[in-house]
Amino acid sequence: MSATRLLLLGPPGAGKGTQAARLVARLGVPQISTGDMLRAAVAAGTEMGRQARAAMESGELVSDDVVIGVARERLAQKDAQEGFVLDGFPRTVVQAEALDAILEQTGVKLERCVAITVDEEVVVARLLRRAEIEGRTDDKEDSIRTRMCVYREQTEPLLAYYRERGVLAEVNGEGGIEEVALRIEGGLS
Ligand code: AMP
Repeated sequence: MSATRLLLLGPPGAGKGTQAARLVARLGVPQISTGDMLRAAVAAGTEMGRQARAAMESGELVSDDVVIGVARERLAQKDAQEGFVLDGFPRTVVQAEALDAILEQTGVKLERCVAITVDEEVVVARLLRRAEIEGRTDDKEDSIRTRMCVYREQTEPLLAYYRERGVLAEVNGEGGIEEVALRIEGGLS
């Protein structure tokens, strides 16, 4: 497997973070999660964190400008030059276009978008369990439903975006972690 510039796409609770962590361990490239970076900004009380907090807690998206800025800076760091696994960015067509432009500046392209597909009720149940275990403030049922709607309306169109560019691999995300990891491997080869 030679692709190292990857994006994992899927609804909240599809297992993107878990699968991204496995992939980066195998590929030796960084995992880039805008959600993790935004949560760190909120925890540190930065100006950006203060701006992002309300949207994150209600399950809405943080503005494209803010998130694109965060991703641009992270992608410019040295450890991302040989590859990366994007997890949670891009989430809108505007962000996807910005990502293309950012990568084009260094003469590279996104090599594969792996879309993890799962039934909505399955992911809602998973997220409610995660809420109990991790206590994430955006894992309340209302905010989970909002995040699912936001995904359908704003992020799902990215499947067509990447299909048109010939880089989409769709993978069934139901079943155990190992099972899904094997399917992703198949989608990358
Ligand atoms: P995640 O951990 O990826 O589920 O992200 C948690 C929250 O951070 C999301 O519900 C959004 O409010 C915000 N967020 C993370 N990534 C993005 C993004 N690419 N665009 C807009 N908002 C984002």
